[in-house]
Parts: sequence; C-alpha cells; structure tokens
Amino acid sequence: MSGPALRLAVPNKGRLQEPTLAMLRDAGLRFEKTDRALTVPVANVSLELLFVRTEDVAEMVADGVAALGITGVDLLEEAGLDLETTAELGFGRCRLVAAVPKSSAAASIEDLAGLRVATAHPNATAGFFARKGVDVTLVPLRGSVEVAPKLGLADAIVDLVSSGSTLLVNGLRPVTTLLESQAVLVTRPGAAREAGVAQVVTMFQAVTAGRRKRYLLMNAPAAAVPAIEHIIPGLEAPTVVPLAHDGMVAVHSVVDAGELWAVLPELKAAGASGILVLAIEQMIP
Ligand code: AMP
Repeated sequence: MSGPALRLAVPNKGRLQEPTLAMLRDAGLRFEKTDRALTVPVANVSLELLFVRTEDVAEMVADGVAALGITGVDLLEEAGLDLETTAELGFGRCRLVAAVPKSSAAASIEDLAGLRVATAHPNATAGFFARKGVDVTLVPLRGSVEVAPKLGLADAIVDLVSSGSTLLVNGLRPVTTLLESQAVLVTRPGAAREAGVAQVVTMFQAVTAGRRKRYLLMNAPAAAVPAIEHIIPGLEAPTVVPLAHDGMVAVHSVVDAGELWAVLPELKAAGASGILVLAIEQMIP
C-alpha cells in the first residue's frame, strides 16, 4: 500500500475491544496500544487504528473519518447509517430480544401491541415493531433496562442477551428475537473495491475463515483413503503422501471446526491413527 495510512475505527473499551485486538494480532498487524493514544500506527501495514467508543464506530466510517470500522450489528441497526458489511467476525455474538415478566400472558410479538417497551436500543426496536406493524410505546432508557418492568416503568423490554441468564435472574421470559448480532467489519458502500481497503478486508476475511476451520493430519492404510475422503469432504481433494512403511499414507485435509468432534471417531473407525488437529491462522481461497 502507498499514500496516507487508511484508518480503521475500533472499540476503545467494552466487550468488543479485547476480541478485536486479538483479531488484529491474528491478522499479523503489529502495533503498540497505549491507554492514552486515540490513534495508533500499525508498524507493518499502511494502517492507523482509531480507538473510539463502540457506538461511535459507524458514524466515524459514515463520515469518512475512518475507511473501515469494527462494531456490532446491533449498533449498526441502531445508527441507521448506510454502511456495507464486508466481513462477519464471529465474536461478540448476542441477540436483541423482547422479553416480558414471567407472569405476563404475552406469547408472541403481536401480544405486545399497546404495551410500554423499555429499551436502550430505541431505533432498532422502533424499526422492528414498525416492520411487524405492531404499535408499542417506547420507553427509552440508557441502562438497567431489565428492572423496568419491576419498577412499573414498562410492561416489556428489548435488550441484548447472550446466555439469557440476566433475563432469568430478573424474572423475565423472552418472547421474540429482533436481531442476531455479532461483530462486523464495515466500510462505506462500494469502498471495499478500493485497493487499500480491499487488502484490509481480505485480511479479516482470511482470519475469520481460518478460525472456522482446522487442519487435520493423520496416518492411514492406503486402502482406507476412499473411506476417509468420504468422511472429510475437505476444501478440495485431500493431500495424500506416501509414508516409508508399506501401504501407509499421510492424509492432510481441512475440516469445519464445528464438525471436528463428529468426524474424529469416524476417521479412527476408518483406520486413521496419529491424528493431529492444527489451528489455521489465515485462509485465503
Ligand atoms: P460495550 O457496551 O462497549 O461493552 O459493547 C456492547 C456491544 O457488545 C453490543 O453493542 C454488542 O454488539 C456486543 N455484545 C455482545 N454480547 C453482548 C451482551 N451479552 N450484552 C450486551 N452487548 C453484547
């Protein structure tokens, strides 16, 4: 890359910060983060990190202050700006759900019609109910939304949850999911076609693709290869390398991380042994 460094807006604190920094390092970016600096240069790529509040990332990208940004899908929806999602990063997963007190009879989104709904996500919530044609009265709050029904402030809430345990602790029951969220890499529409931006997008896509896969190596009798190929569809055909011992081969392949524990016993049953499972740092198709 040449010319002035591109800016990447990233969370300066909160839940998304640590996993974002981990992903930047997995992408091979070298930088020294200090608590004070708002901008931090990347030593080995023409890129500058701009540390801002997670909820300001979308605005920074829309305004052109940063060429790229990392934020949550929920915050994008809340900001209502026209941005393009160029990579789903696989962390910061949560859901925006509508919930009611356990004693409530509401069982569907329609049952919330006419009710007061407390939320710290008023735009995303208003958009969702408008699209469903369900009329509710929003009670915008900045925090502690889950106690609003107990305080008599609202009949229902809309809040972000991951496990749902906070809802349970507060005597609430989910009724519907408004939005599935995770951290994403965003740009202005069309900007990902510019050479410098495209390179950064590829970096993140390569890391996220690698995280979803595992590299498998195993020894097996040559006669077992067709059965092994059947078990592991792989990226393409598996690599099969002859070993010094007669009739034995080493098989290399890539599997979905989520399928690993289903596949391993099948491979053993097919005759594979000495199975190694390796992480993939980056994967570029
Ligand atoms: P922060 O308020 O800075 O900690 O970041 C909040 C962001 O983290 C949200 O906008 C979501 O994108 C993400 N997130 C992931 N899991 C959760 C959760 N259980 N509750 C709230 N936010 C979450």
